[in-house]
Amino acid sequence: MRDAPAIPILPTVAALRAASATWRRAGEAIGFVPTMGALHEGHLTLVRQARAQCRRVVVSIFVNPTQFGPNSDFARYPRDLAADIAKLATVGVDAVFAPDVGEMYPDGFATTVTVAGLTDGLCGPHRPGHFAGVATVVSKLLLQCQADAAYFGEKDWQQLQVVRRLARDLDIPVRIEGVPTVREADGLAMSSRNFYLSPDERQRATVLYRTLSAMAAELAGGAPAAPAIARGFAALSKAGFDPVDYLSVVEAESLQPAARVTGPCRIAVAAWLGKTRLIDNVAVAPGA
Ligand code: AMP
Repeated sequence: MRDAPAIPILPTVAALRAASATWRRAGEAIGFVPTMGALHEGHLTLVRQARAQCRRVVVSIFVNPTQFGPNSDFARYPRDLAADIAKLATVGVDAVFAPDVGEMYPDGFATTVTVAGLTDGLCGPHRPGHFAGVATVVSKLLLQCQADAAYFGEKDWQQLQVVRRLARDLDIPVRIEGVPTVREADGLAMSSRNFYLSPDERQRATVLYRTLSAMAAELAGGAPAAPAIARGFAALSKAGFDPVDYLSVVEAESLQPAARVTGPCRIAVAAWLGKTRLIDNVAVAPGA
């Protein structure tokens, strides 16, 4: 059997634009999957969806410094380009865009994209500057790649709403596709940050999804949110989550708090196990 051809690694915006222009001229649809590397099955599911809908697929791998806080895990964020490329080869991608920090933020870089409102709650107050970093880098990536569709995980629900908003507001000609969260067999949402968990923490981490699922079952029946949130907080604390940054019931698109589930909502959580911050969310709708 012959080896699959190597995936081209594009280190510059110019190289990405050239590839994208060639495909566009040939009338080939381009699907784009932005990532920070440390790829797992969740990322590969995004790639498979892009593959199913587009003739060409580009994955970016860039650990974006501007979306990490000063004392966060930027320095220790897992980086292994060779391992990531090997995983991408199993699903088939046409190019990997892997710029360095200087390529994305050259000397003199001075522009920030901020999305108001949607970033006021949930992770916003707990991670100052995070969404400005995300919105800026995603705007740049979308403009650099000029894809027809870009794929983002529902795991980062607030980020998905922020990306939809900025693409609409800035008239970036791309379709934003949300992809349902991929979970481990025991329900834990796959995340590059799960690698930080000790075996004991990994065990306790399953309480996160169990708590959200129990709340969803209760709230779908029309129960008020506040007591369910209080019980959920207690369950998380008992499992050793400390602190729980938030556990909230919000309208799915506006992200405004919901006192009861009367339309499409999300139950969203961010909580710490030791030194690791985990986030997750589930859908809930009346009667569902
Ligand atoms: P990251 O590399 O963590 O920035 O994630 C890159 C993309 O993969 C984002 O759109 C995430 O929402 C998405 N993603 C991460 N984990 C999962 C998962 N478990 N299921 C689905 N999508 C995910």
